[in-house]
Amino acid sequence: MPGFEIFGDEERKQVNDVLESGILMRYGFDGMRNGHWKAKEFETSFAEKMGTEFCQLLSSGTSALTTALASAGIGAGDEVIMPVFTFVASFESILALGAIPVLVDIDDTLTLDPKAVAAAITPKTKCVMPVHMCGSMADLDALQTICSKHNLLLLEDACQALGGTYKGKQLGSIGDLGCFSFDFVKTITCGEGGAVITNNKAYYINSDQYQDHGHDHVGTDRGAETHPNMGYNFRISELHAAVGIAQLNKLDHILAIQKRNYTMVRNALETIEGVTFRRVPEGGEENYSFVSFFLPTEELTKKAINALSEAGVEANFYWYTNNWHYINGWEHLRNLKSLGRVTNEVRNQLEKLNTTNFLKSDAVMSRTISSLVKIGWTEAEVIERAEKMKKAINSVL
Ligand SMILES: *Cc1c(COP(=O)(O)O)cnc(C)c1O
Repeated sequence: MPGFEIFGDEERKQVNDVLESGILMRYGFDGMRNGHWKAKEFETSFAEKMGTEFCQLLSSGTSALTTALASAGIGAGDEVIMPVFTFVASFESILALGAIPVLVDIDDTLTLDPKAVAAAITPKTKCVMPVHMCGSMADLDALQTICSKHNLLLLEDACQALGGTYKGKQLGSIGDLGCFSFDFVKTITCGEGGAVITNNKAYYINSDQYQDHGHDHVGTDRGAETHPNMGYNFRISELHAAVGIAQLNKLDHILAIQKRNYTMVRNALETIEGVTFRRVPEGGEENYSFVSFFLPTEELTKKAINALSEAGVEANFYWYTNNWHYINGWEHLRNLKSLGRVTNEVRNQLEKLNTTNFLKSDAVMSRTISSLVKIGWTEAEVIERAEKMKKAINSVL
């Protein structure tokens, strides 16, 4: 998955453009920047690539999620439905706005279970946030139907699924808003960075203003600009955007290699009786950044993880016991370990996490192994890896 594997002369050239003028900021200094507007250039190219009208580049994927929610008017007391299997950024972005994260089960797609979403809707629900984990997507048709029926915002977290598609459309471009991360381990990287995409002009304008202290970006005198709404600083720097431009040019290449390597590993694992694979919703195509598969029981899965590690096969993830991606590891959330006071409505919702069980998700996650697909591997290395995996997993079955 990681774009950092192919950092090279193209990235250096882009960064040097910025270093030569020394204008590290994305706004202003028009006469001094040698015509380089790296953040703007990235936004134009990325929106085109995603097939959306607008793109707003940001300092991280987490700030992209926060900005997307803020742009659509989500705030204090609003409930946002999110999955129990995701990265901590999901609840961080919701809590940052004083909104309430409502955690619900996932299914064998490893993403939001539409039935669990429907069951969690209350009069306070404002948004459904599917997270397309490990390269593949939620059942977006089912979620869209629920959102339309209840007039809810559909915000796709596509941070781990850049380049995947659903019914011919790019993941992230299907909901009202879509978010991406370009942190150092994502499909493409800016070092740190993120993006919001949308076809909604009002959300775009709100995002543009929110990420830069509310600046309306009208005119050529930054100090004289007005501030229609309060904002924040989630700006990206020109240096980071420059890296992103070079990486974006390599995206098709990255996806093609991922698909090749994924297919070789998957073909090998498919021959093992007892191994099954995550469900990809009909009409979807993964970005092939992980091969995620199930073993028959939790016990066998734990044995398989150990066998893989003993065989020296790196980068296999058992999310079920991971500190960052599954609710079991989020005792800081369950126990409200907040540096400052949180509102009573947030507290009441989070306290419920200690008495709610997520048995349906546990049943899936306890049997899931995700095997990272790297792009730096040669074909021979992938074949060797696939054979080692096959042998290790067969040894425990
Ligand atoms: C990486 C990631 C984020 C956050 O991105 P950062 O750029 O690291 O802040 C959000 N959601 C998911 C699913 C991610 O994998």
